[in-house]
Amino acid sequence: MKVEEFDALIVGGGLSGLRVAIELVDTMNVAIISKVYPLRSHSGAAQGGINAALGNTEAGKNDSPKTHAYDTVYGSDYLADQDAVMVLAKEAPKIVIELESMGAPFSRLDSGLIAQRPFGGAGFPRTCYAGDRTGHALLHTVYEQCIRKGVKFFDEFFLVDLIKVGNCIAGLVALDIASGELVVFRSESVVLATGGFGRIYKRSTNAIINTGDGLGAAFRAGVPMQDCEFVQFHPTTLFGTNILITEGARGEGGYLFNKNKERFMNKVAPKAMELAPRDIVARAIDTEILEGRGFDDSYVHLDLTHLGKEKIMERLPGIRDISMYFAGVDPIEKPIPVQPGQHYSMGGIASKYKGDFGETPLDGLYSIGETSCISVHGANRLGGNSLLETIVFGRYVGKAIFKKESRRKLKSFEIKNAEEAALKAIEKTFTSWNKNKGKKPADIRMAMKTTMDKNVGVFREEARLHQTTIDLQNVQKDFKSMHIETDDRKFNFGFVRALELRNMVDIAEVTAFAALWRKESRGAHFRTDYPTRNDKEFQVHSLVTKKNGELIMETKPVTLGIFEVKERAY
Ligand SMILES: Cc1cc2nc3c(=O)[nH]c(=O)nc-3n(C[C@H](O)[C@H](O)[C@H](O)COP(=O)(O)OP(=O)(O)OC[C@H]3O[C@@H](n4cnc5c(N)ncnc54)[C@H](O)[C@@H]3O)c2cc1C
Repeated sequence: MKVEEFDALIVGGGLSGLRVAIELVDTMNVAIISKVYPLRSHSGAAQGGINAALGNTEAGKNDSPKTHAYDTVYGSDYLADQDAVMVLAKEAPKIVIELESMGAPFSRLDSGLIAQRPFGGAGFPRTCYAGDRTGHALLHTVYEQCIRKGVKFFDEFFLVDLIKVGNCIAGLVALDIASGELVVFRSESVVLATGGFGRIYKRSTNAIINTGDGLGAAFRAGVPMQDCEFVQFHPTTLFGTNILITEGARGEGGYLFNKNKERFMNKVAPKAMELAPRDIVARAIDTEILEGRGFDDSYVHLDLTHLGKEKIMERLPGIRDISMYFAGVDPIEKPIPVQPGQHYSMGGIASKYKGDFGETPLDGLYSIGETSCISVHGANRLGGNSLLETIVFGRYVGKAIFKKESRRKLKSFEIKNAEEAALKAIEKTFTSWNKNKGKKPADIRMAMKTTMDKNVGVFREEARLHQTTIDLQNVQKDFKSMHIETDDRKFNFGFVRALELRNMVDIAEVTAFAALWRKESRGAHFRTDYPTRNDKEFQVHSLVTKKNGELIMETKPVTLGIFEVKERAY
């Protein structure tokens, strides 16, 4: 058995994982494991920007962290924990300046200050950006700092399962993708920073690697999944491939039209129009399409032509490239065909705000970034708040790990026994696949995605959600006796895809189960059979676990008290 040992171990080389490492590397022996080379993490795909109430522009000069927090809570449809949101908004200006001093190449105003653009659901232009490739710029900047400080990386190592002793984390088992070997990583502090799980859907802006691996491992270890029914569908993904067309395109002044040339947003958000929050714009677009006012019953137009060549070339060059390469449309001359697609996972691993920041109910296990639910996004995330969360909370999780006083000192024989048991269980799972019969992973994956797209999308209702829970039980059965082409583990991506599917199926089941349970409409979760918000019964966080093979629903209260609860109107 190959064993590596660290004071703290971070799974994930995206912005969240990197920022935790920076906080710890000076004082602790820390390593990052990542299934892809860190610069290929999905953080690098972020386009539009990162929010901070800097008030750099004339239009934004009255902005403040409190207004930022208010917009976030209002946008969340009052499901975000208000104390956590206040911290996020207050820390934002500091953290953006920190990124600037690390060397992040932000776009600039003529004054030399960091430029800020309007974004959906925001009262002021608050989103700081680097053209339309903000994530790429930030990921490189933070990675450079990790290299400078000597963070140790295990690239192309895949987290398979966690190891625990009683209710304490003891480490994890990872697959070294190149050698095919299973390696035990021993640590009493493990951080899951494995990103979102958008690939449980077919129509998604997410990278192929966003398969919810951290969530799957935590779920199997008994940690609750929080608010997973809240899936963000981005209104504008490119028709055909569902590549993201940033909200920044509407922030810069883009319009949405149906096939009758109507700017239909005036029907649902007459003030905010195209810059209403994503849940509202996505529903408006799908309504146009469902009621026959879309093009080819499939998409609407995002028109940037009136912005002019210069502005498009300067502020949205990546969007122009994507539209030309993948849809054959130059947005300087023609509108872009767009439709809603899965984009972000508001829910995630239940993690604490109070006490040891980011810690899950499993002692010593933390989660951060899109994987986690510390609940700042509630039922609907505002654009630009996710990059922010990775950096602000990455720092906080690092501090919490450093400060944790009661290092547990598990007994070495307990750790060894747990490690051996974990390896044995994993081998058992692997050998159950090595047969020359059963369905192929690709077919099982497609069955899962098809039912998720069809029944757990922008609009939901009882019978269809119920159907998906049954479909997914069948998917689980097929998965258990799956056929894989070869059991050679050396650089076997078929094997890695199978491991990812194991996590996706679990999280798809949680998502559908929670969506069926939540009999109200709030934020991104819209039930046509329960079209209004029901604060009396459902202003609570959902918590799903599995006991004896059955999914169990529990709830916990939402932290309110800073902003008065109101109806949302834009
Ligand atoms: C196209 C797109 C555009 C976006 N634009 C914006 C934007 O403009 N502004 C904004 O605020 N937000 C945006 N978002 C959201 C935001 O980018 C993400 O939520 C955020 O970057 C997630 O960061 P993360 O560190 O949590 O995860 P990621 O960046 O996804 O990193 C996950 C890491 O975990 C590793 N990993 C995963 N599974 C395993 C495993 N089994 N074993 C080992 N390692 C594993 C991966 O290798 C990777 O390094 C966008 C998202 C998308 C998809």
